[in-house]
Amino acid sequence: MNTKGFSIDREHIWHPYASMHNPPPVCDVHHTDGTHIVLQNGQRLIDGISSWWCASFGYQRQEIVEAIREQAAEMAHVMFGGLTHEPAQQCAEALLALLPDSLRHIFYADSGSIAVECAMKMALQYQISQGKTTRTRIVALRGGYHGDTIGAMSVSDPCGMHQIFSGVLPRQFFVEQPSCRFDAPWDEKSFAPMAEMLHSHSQEIAAVILEPIFQGANGMWFYHPQYLRNLRKTCNDLGIVLIFDEIATGFWRTGRLFAMEYANVVPDILCLGKTLTGGNITFACAIASTQIAEPIPTLLHGPTYMANPLACAAACASLKILQSADWGKEVARIEAKLRQTLAPCRQCPNVADVRILGAVGVLDVRHLPTAETLQKIVLKTGVWLRPEEHFIYTMPPFITRDDELERIARAMEMLAYA
Ligand SMILES: *Cc1c(COP(=O)(O)O)cnc(C)c1O
Repeated sequence: MNTKGFSIDREHIWHPYASMHNPPPVCDVHHTDGTHIVLQNGQRLIDGISSWWCASFGYQRQEIVEAIREQAAEMAHVMFGGLTHEPAQQCAEALLALLPDSLRHIFYADSGSIAVECAMKMALQYQISQGKTTRTRIVALRGGYHGDTIGAMSVSDPCGMHQIFSGVLPRQFFVEQPSCRFDAPWDEKSFAPMAEMLHSHSQEIAAVILEPIFQGANGMWFYHPQYLRNLRKTCNDLGIVLIFDEIATGFWRTGRLFAMEYANVVPDILCLGKTLTGGNITFACAIASTQIAEPIPTLLHGPTYMANPLACAAACASLKILQSADWGKEVARIEAKLRQTLAPCRQCPNVADVRILGAVGVLDVRHLPTAETLQKIVLKTGVWLRPEEHFIYTMPPFITRDDELERIARAMEMLAYA
């Protein structure tokens, strides 16, 4: 361990959701490679969560590394106001080829949270353009997560963070989590709370935002595709904009290229991020239909690093990798292996539920181990995991081998018993 660096880290550098006076334990990383994070002391950890769900094709993909290197040698960045460049155009071409025909207008954002902010602005500005100036609020789901900026936080599950920031956050409408499980027979009652909300407040509502099929960070919950079909129809009937946040679910994570394909439903605005650059550079986008984009006179957003060429080049290379293999088949293999290897966890008294879809495996537990116990088990098993809320979960890179999945499952089991 690099001792000087380590003390600077402890004293001066904030980590995600951490305190400065009592910083949680951290591992010092030297490099990454394939499915592995390699520590300063040489220990290799299998990454069971793809660096917060973005390194889905594995680390150090040469195509992406080379693309970034070549782009950096030519032009690392120029402002996007009044200027344009090939990486932005090529990235758009690659995205449009993947997307449903109605989603045509791409706004490049610096992170997932900012893509969500842009999507909300698009929806609000669209309603204003239609003369619907009372439609200022957004409907979101309990158990949802859309990012950490103020606007994105206002539509994420109103849990701990909301109480601290109440009085600051815009007041949105929340609907209970869709109760019908992904694999259960459809129960029409599970849509009733959403229908009731949309019908009774339609004149105040600009948009609905949700994560299709799989609620990530705050829910780790898979719900029935029919919910999205009902929602699409109700939004059409009431003039409400439908936003899908596929920042986590996009690019095969749930077993389809996009999770919305399970429902065969297309939103008015789609947010993408995370796997977009294969886990290399922060980058995301919000993509609107022509119906939404056309009437907006000027979209009021324009970040300094908009359409950063390095990020665009990384995304182009990552999207090429996406097209170059049958990832659906790999994800199906991972799903089958997780079903088999996580089954014994149902016996653990701490485990309330086991849920698996695509390359996502979740143990819903009654209590989590402490940060110190977690680190001990990570180092002992050689598997990198980061349980959150009441979830011990894996979202491994799609190149993770069966024997590595076996080790991930055993580490999850050990955490559940800890
Ligand atoms: C991670 C995530 C975000 C936020 O993305 P950042 O790049 O961390 O800002 C938004 N929505 C969903 C569904 C996410 O999983």
